Amino acid sequence: MTTVLKFGGSSVATVEQIQAIASYLKGRADAGEKLVVVVSAMGKMTDSLIAQARTITDRPERRELDRLLAIGEEQTISLLSIALNSLGTKALSLTGAQAGISTMGLHTKSKIKQINGELLREKLVVNDVIIVAGFQGVNEHGDVTTLGRGGSDTTAVALAAVLDKRCEIYTDVDGVYTADPRVHKTAKAIDRISYDEMMEMSALGSKVMEMRSVELGKKYGVHIFVGKTLDSQKGTWIMEATETMEQKVVSSVSVTKNVLSVSIKHVPQTDSAVADIFELLSNRHVNIDMISQTTFDGDVFLSFTCPLDEEEFLEEALGDIMNRFTTVKVDRHDQHAKLSVVGIGMRDATGVASRLFAIFRAEAIPFYQVTTSEISISYTIAQSDVERTVAAIAHAFEL
Ligand code: ASP
Ligand code: MG
Repeated sequence: MTTVLKFGGSSVATVEQIQAIASYLKGRADAGEKLVVVVSAMGKMTDSLIAQARTITDRPERRELDRLLAIGEEQTISLLSIALNSLGTKALSLTGAQAGISTMGLHTKSKIKQINGELLREKLVVNDVIIVAGFQGVNEHGDVTTLGRGGSDTTAVALAAVLDKRCEIYTDVDGVYTADPRVHKTAKAIDRISYDEMMEMSALGSKVMEMRSVELGKKYGVHIFVGKTLDSQKGTWIMEATETMEQKVVSSVSVTKNVLSVSIKHVPQTDSAVADIFELLSNRHVNIDMISQTTFDGDVFLSFTCPLDEEEFLEEALGDIMNRFTTVKVDRHDQHAKLSVVGIGMRDATGVASRLFAIFRAEAIPFYQVTTSEISISYTIAQSDVERTVAAIAHAFEL
């Protein structure tokens, strides 16, 4: 039985931390376990490598950027392997390419195509710990590629998928919470959560795990544990929703701060106007979320949100839109947050929306836009109302 463990950047930020992880791994290897360990770049290394390239040019060649970023993880695997071997544990470090991780797609956002599990199994016969660089692979041209920010989670889950489907993700938080403890102090750690809820939470702003990795976990049935590095706290298991899981209607509240809400009215009711508007937004690379459109009395209303740090692009795009359609009126708010209530129980329980609206009414909290998915309801609210709204929802749904 082989377990894949992943340690994030903040857990391997210093050589001392790497040595502490090595002692922990030695303990498990001495107890007879075979381990595959995936590590991220040390601390903020990836950010500083990007910044370094940017001091030369705003547009580094993506192939070269990948070559540069891959160095971050390669530093960590070597140090961890040196630390383990110095403790007498047989360890071997491998880059993504050496571990047989082939990728496809664009540089800096490649996808894993295939992993050679046999190769890893062979190397585990003579080594107790194989250390694999996260976030990287090799494409059909033999070039080093990376998987997009946060991609080490995907490396770990993908490796577990071709090995024994056990994956432990270690990070600086002790699991998944019902709400962000920085926003809601009494938020509780969740013991078990379904893949679908975790995917929804990642999509809605929870930073605990990269979304693609959870998707992959679900696809291949990998049992994923998320816990705090070198800490005996319980942590969270991510798995298929089963009968034994406590089925709460609502399991968590996620918040994305710094959201810009945009409403556009008097959009001409022609076949092409809405498509044209979204094309103008897309031409300026504005990342759109929470789209809704209604028509009343021949008047078309359009609303959407985008991240506040894209304000510049948005302003340019809105300029383009107002040039093209002189009738439109635009309203925007930059002090908004998106608050999402997630729960797999919403699939079959009715009345969740009504309970939520009643909470907003009772607390007199204004909201500006509401959208739903199969297992979530999202609101845009004023940023200054975030804490009290989360508290009221947590209270009502016992989160
Ligand atoms: N080092 C990469 C990043 O900072 C990948 C990862 O940590 O998952 O995004
Ligand atoms: Mg991460």
